[in-house]
Amino acid sequence: MTTAWMEETESATPVLTAADRCDQCGARAWVRVTMNSGQLLFCAHHANRHMESLRESAVAILDERHLLAED
Ligand SMILES: [Zn+2]
Repeated sequence: MTTAWMEETESATPVLTAADRCDQCGARAWVRVTMNSGQLLFCAHHANRHMESLRESAVAILDERHLLAED
């Protein structure tokens, strides 16, 4: 489900790097959520857990979880 007003980016070239760390656990971040108050970084695990509520307050979401190799 996508809300029309929100910019949701899946970039071909990675924006997030190994230096970007999840605000919750310090693992590598794959999702960057921009809100009016600032930006939050999430690993895949915490992005999955919080995405539903984040979508309500985010102005932009950069989702690079597709770059994660999934078995
Ligand atoms: Zn995390």
